Amino acid sequence: MSNQTAFDEASTVIPGGVNSPVRAFRSVGGAPRFLVSGHGSYVVDVEGREYVDLVCSWGPLLLGHAHPQVLDAVHQAVSRGLSFGASTPAETELAEAVIARLARIEVPDRSSSQPRSTDPRSGAAPQAPERASRDAAVVEQVRLVSTGTEATMTAIRLARGVTGRSLVIKFAGHYHGHSDGLLADAGSGLATLALPSSAGVPAEIAAQTLVLPYNDRAAVEAAFAEFGPRIAAIIVEAASANMGVVAPQPGFNAFLAQTTHAHGALLIVDEVLTGFRVSPAGWLGLEPVAADIVTFGKVIGGGMPLAALGARREIMEHLAPLGPVYQAGTLSGNPVAVAAGLATLQAADAAVYARVDAVAATISTAVDDALSAAGVEHVVSRAGNLFSIQFRPALARDYAGVQRQEAFRYGPFFHAMLDAGVSLPPSAYEAWFVSAAHDDAAVSRVLDALPAAARAAAAARP
Ligand SMILES: *Cc1c(COP(=O)(O)O)cnc(C)c1O
Repeated sequence: MSNQTAFDEASTVIPGGVNSPVRAFRSVGGAPRFLVSGHGSYVVDVEGREYVDLVCSWGPLLLGHAHPQVLDAVHQAVSRGLSFGASTPAETELAEAVIARLARIEVPDRSSSQPRSTDPRSGAAPQAPERASRDAAVVEQVRLVSTGTEATMTAIRLARGVTGRSLVIKFAGHYHGHSDGLLADAGSGLATLALPSSAGVPAEIAAQTLVLPYNDRAAVEAAFAEFGPRIAAIIVEAASANMGVVAPQPGFNAFLAQTTHAHGALLIVDEVLTGFRVSPAGWLGLEPVAADIVTFGKVIGGGMPLAALGARREIMEHLAPLGPVYQAGTLSGNPVAVAAGLATLQAADAAVYARVDAVAATISTAVDDALSAAGVEHVVSRAGNLFSIQFRPALARDYAGVQRQEAFRYGPFFHAMLDAGVSLPPSAYEAWFVSAAHDDAAVSRVLDALPAAARAAAAARP
């Protein structure tokens, strides 16, 4: 079977032929590759062609495809049964593994930098969360769910339940899954009450989300000045990687923590993509801030549907069955998914992170060099071991900036890489992902493919 046939057949029974729109090749053209297997850093399509994979399932595969320890754990779990709808001991182990990784980070003392709001209007808000002076861990308890979308959706509900407020701030270009309220994206300035960016989202729901430009402190301050007592939380990608990679400016995340706390709101740090990938403790391991709720996904499931949210006990105890904030899931903490996630975290030692960092550095530098040699105006945007290309002269710091680039150069670049046996994300606005399984042979194949791809990008016309 050819990829084209597989795609044509899929398109008859599946909208657009894909079960998640990011898999479509609409922005780069052609038929998506239909994959049949993966091993290490390679994937194989229905035509039997092998590619070095720089998508890695969009992040989860920190160890590469079909890692023996992960497969072994999954096989053992499968042999015991697929789902019980009851608790299993491994869920506790996974929660403990998450807590242990986050416990290593030193968070600035919550009590010192965060005076209670003196804004008289804030008296109207029921009970801001208690901030003890103890040096609380960021994550004392964890709830397992099945997707990143559920994790962020639950985090928002929890923040609203804890604060008794309804507005949520998100940043333009940040992706937090596809729940109604988080699909709001005004792309406009300051404290605009957002319009939905997806059909099917009622304006009343979108209006609960304020969309602000990323890395813009003044916009955050203005939003709190106008809506402070009504704001339950800010949700932010720990480092943004869903508009291509755009790192937070130094101190921006800490500023968000201070500002939310000064107004009795919560900071939700979305580590679904960065968590356990950019460091053993995620982005918070690189840049610790006093996050109130942290969401995880992708790597935590090691390639299976698993995600989580974590916070201090006093926040997590608002969740059912202890508290009034309802959340549930038939397959939450599924034993097979937990086995894959736990085995992945157990295998992800310092050597794994060192390798992932080194591969990312080698490839991103080579991309930079190849595009320079071909005379293509570009910058390589980095956040930890995540990177992507911006086809523009200087680094963009927000969504509006990212959109002002010569994205038409990406399609020809992408296809030249694909022809040379390297599978990149099929969009200019996605991060590239590497794994610890990317050995020197795989990296060489990528480096060898780059000069011709860079020339294709140079020759591209809008
Ligand atoms: C992928 C992603 C999500 C959504 O996770 P799903 O498992 O796809 O629902 C949420 N937030 C961020 C930052 C992500 O990258």
